[in-house]
Amino acid sequence: MSPASKETAAIVLDCQDHGESDQIVTFFCKDIGRMTGIAKGAKRSQKRFVNKLELFSSLRLRYKESRTSNLVFIAEAELVDSFLRLRQNMPLYMAATVIRELTLSATRDLEGDDGFFALLQWGLRTVDGQRLYTNRDPRYPRRPPLNGCSCALPGAEPAMGRPPLVVVPGRHPAIPHSRSTDHSSLPVQLSVMNVLALFQIKFFEQIGYRPNLDSCLRCHQPFSVDQEYGFDSRGGGIVCGRCRGEQGESSLTPLSRGTIRILASAQNQPLHRLHCLQISRSGLREALSFLTHYGHHLLQREICSLKAFL
Ligand SMILES: [Zn+2]
Repeated sequence: MSPASKETAAIVLDCQDHGESDQIVTFFCKDIGRMTGIAKGAKRSQKRFVNKLELFSSLRLRYKESRTSNLVFIAEAELVDSFLRLRQNMPLYMAATVIRELTLSATRDLEGDDGFFALLQWGLRTVDGQRLYTNRDPRYPRRPPLNGCSCALPGAEPAMGRPPLVVVPGRHPAIPHSRSTDHSSLPVQLSVMNVLALFQIKFFEQIGYRPNLDSCLRCHQPFSVDQEYGFDSRGGGIVCGRCRGEQGESSLTPLSRGTIRILASAQNQPLHRLHCLQISRSGLREALSFLTHYGHHLLQREICSLKAFL
């Protein structure tokens, strides 16, 4: 008896030609995690797979497991979202490529999902949504604000009753959106850098290495606006100026207090509110620099696509 067919939500991470007519496709699937399958006849198919097995496509997948290997047989794919805008804009495409490369580097086949699918979906949806609010393209009119939040993105939920948070490095307390940041005026590059910083903060937590931004790794004193800090990639957390001074460390990545504050705030936000955080231009450079160092240390490899944003 052949194995029963199963269904799952999936995002295409990789697709390679195999033989004359087949394709080997790597997906990230809800609940299952990373999964690789063979789509028989995909290069000839006019109905089952055409325009569906593209990088980043969000699909509803029907497949059968193999008795002898982890490679599944892809029976059919239904397109849920092609993320068309990120295919038409180079900075958006490069940002999606960073998300893809990080995901491929940190996951293995069939290791389960545990929230990673939702983060991946958030990352691609948010990158894909950037053009709506950054380029004044008449084909993509701006959507009306959700509950006063001018940066509402696809998939975002209205912030119920509370003002949206915007934390600006160097300023305290948090300043409501409408007074501080108009996302529609941000250049695309800065806008996608913001998504990449927020994505990575959640990404490292998801793989079990949440950066400690709450207290000094050495003296365990809580974060203070009166201290200077650097980030220790080996230890996975911030080190205060007093401890750094005592040990004379030069390997720490400088991190301003404002950047620490907004990234720590991001760690505590649910995904549907994350898009409300806008990091300053200088904060973005710092954040991406320290996150790149940290990722390099953890994954023991360079994320090549990130270089475009450093
Ligand atoms: Zn310390």
